[in-house]
Amino acid sequence: MDKKEELDLVRKKIEVELDCPLKKSATNLVFAKGNCDAKVFIIGEAPGKNEDLQGVPFVGKAGQNLNEYLKIAGLDLDVVYIANILKYRPPQNRNPTNEEIAKHTPYLIEQIKIVKPKILITLGNFSSKFVLGKFSVEGMDSVEGITKIHGKRHEVDFFGQKIIVYPIYHPAAVIYNRKLVEQIKQDFVKLSDILKCE
Ligand code: URA
Repeated sequence: MDKKEELDLVRKKIEVELDCPLKKSATNLVFAKGNCDAKVFIIGEAPGKNEDLQGVPFVGKAGQNLNEYLKIAGLDLDVVYIANILKYRPPQNRNPTNEEIAKHTPYLIEQIKIVKPKILITLGNFSSKFVLGKFSVEGMDSVEGITKIHGKRHEVDFFGQKIIVYPIYHPAAVIYNRKLVEQIKQDFVKLSDILKCE
């Protein structure tokens, strides 16, 4: 089986097995997009309105911002792989609950195992805390907030393999806080240096 077929099986498992009320309130499953051989795997938080309607992550304003910033690091949406912590949109884009994170992330972990990236870019607090908290909800509280950890190279053990983690502010955050724009851009400049060494 190639990676695409393996990923299709994960998608089917979500459709069949995942038992979560968000499945009923959402329009579509938002599984992932991008290159399944990517070196860079980006983890967002949860689908928004446009993503829910189209069934594709990062197609709205946050996606446009993300694509602009990726170019700073010599990347674009077609060369990376992108998935979210939550696979279905929470109503009114509210924050994910711990219970939802616990139910949805086993599929994210399967996606990472199949794609086998070198670097995980975590966008915002939820994905950064989940990944740096050793891929567990329980570990999330022990991780500092994004204002402290963004723009720094971290390493975690991912099922016996070292994986680099690079947290960045969520690109939706700049929609509400324009002061973050320069900060995010600087983090993507630093990312291009990290990518050169890998
Ligand atoms: N924000 C996210 O975290 N994910 C998306 O897919 C869109 C917006």
